Amino acid sequence: MFDKILIPNRGEIALRIHRACREMGIHTVVAHSTADAHGMAVRLADESVCIGPPPARDSYLNVQAILTAAQITGADAIHPGIGFLSENAAFARMVEEHGFTFIGPEPRHIEVMGDKISAKAAVKAAGLPTVPGSDGEVASVNDALTIAARIGYPVLVKATAGGGGRGMKVARDAESLRDAFRMAKNEARAAFGNDGVYLEKYLERPRHIEIQILADTHGNVVHFGERDCSVQRRHQKVIEEAPSPGLNAGEREHIGRLAAETARQIGYRGVGTMEFLYENGAFYFIEMNTRLQVEHPVTEMISGIDLVREQIRVADGAALGYGQHDIDLQGHAIECRINAEHPETFAPSPGRITTYHPPGGLGVRFDSALYEGYTVPPHYDSLVGKLIVHGTNRNECLMRLRRSLEECVIGGIDTIAPLHVRLTHEPAFVNGDYNIHWLEKLLAAER
Ligand code: ADP
Repeated sequence: MFDKILIPNRGEIALRIHRACREMGIHTVVAHSTADAHGMAVRLADESVCIGPPPARDSYLNVQAILTAAQITGADAIHPGIGFLSENAAFARMVEEHGFTFIGPEPRHIEVMGDKISAKAAVKAAGLPTVPGSDGEVASVNDALTIAARIGYPVLVKATAGGGGRGMKVARDAESLRDAFRMAKNEARAAFGNDGVYLEKYLERPRHIEIQILADTHGNVVHFGERDCSVQRRHQKVIEEAPSPGLNAGEREHIGRLAAETARQIGYRGVGTMEFLYENGAFYFIEMNTRLQVEHPVTEMISGIDLVREQIRVADGAALGYGQHDIDLQGHAIECRINAEHPETFAPSPGRITTYHPPGGLGVRFDSALYEGYTVPPHYDSLVGKLIVHGTNRNECLMRLRRSLEECVIGGIDTIAPLHVRLTHEPAFVNGDYNIHWLEKLLAAER
């Protein structure tokens, strides 16, 4: 097993990875920017190295600085965490070339899945259903118009390099498709330096259902059922839960088996998530994330399995040691993302934490790197905490979620916790009767 792992990441996820390492007896090195010198992960890690100034491109995306940090601290492996370089195939390759283990899939899988068109082609070949759309990149507005006429409006223009919901535009007719095409291209160029776009049928009322996969290097693949991540704002997840209130046991078993089989066929290694839209009893693959996900604790709460630990074990070449039949999903879990944003305007709210009381008690987990006196820097993602609650059933889970949200005190900055309090009382959420457009519509109705 590894002796030392370098974590070039920050916030709650760096802390999450440190925690798994600590329990495995692995030393940690947190590689951080100057803005994060006082971060909790830096404080708790065995060692820390500063890799650059606050802008991510100069620190968390600075490959040379990260490899140098791994070299001087004598790390065996690098865990990229979430975001930053976690889905960068070139980085994964360089890590391996420099003699370190990349804790993640093989670079070829990151590459294939990183491009949404090659990803769709790869899983389609393995037998997964995909959203009807263009068979690849769409070169011109005229091509887009022809394809849209074939698949029918509304359509969604999506960036091939997409991520974080950027470069995505809906068009309800030919007129608006001309604008959507141009806007999506501009947005994609600005966000990803790649303006390739493709077309998909826009689904009006789908749920976002994703399957957690884990594969070792000995041909063993298991899935941990689904997470329902339909509560979204601007195509970004806000609440995630498992199991989905919208699936029955047969559908769960069907899509889980298909996803695991696809991972086996492509020779995948490590943790990964296949994302689907689900509407009228049918699943449509949209993308695969070749890394740990923000919402992984939801699955951990119902499976009792530490996914980061498993990720590290399989990266080290260990066999899973269990099969699909050994995975026993129990009860219900819900995660609320606590972002440092105003709960109504969603304006970012970095700043100093003046008071802090995380919720606790039976079935409650609060993944956060916050502490009283800490200053949330303005340079990064607004996620400052994740409240994950487990109960024997969805009702108990909801009750527990409401009571934990009531206990949660994060003073000095705005967070979206008050929005979560409201959502947990909304009849549609309480009944599990929501889809990916529900939250946007709810918020729009109040404006
Ligand atoms: P990104 O990588 O930018 O997150 P995804 O392809 O994962 O993009 O899509 C993000 C979200 O956008 C989905 O969870 C869903 O809410 C919405 N979305 C994506 N494709 C479609 C579609 N064809 N129809 C309706 N909504 C979609």
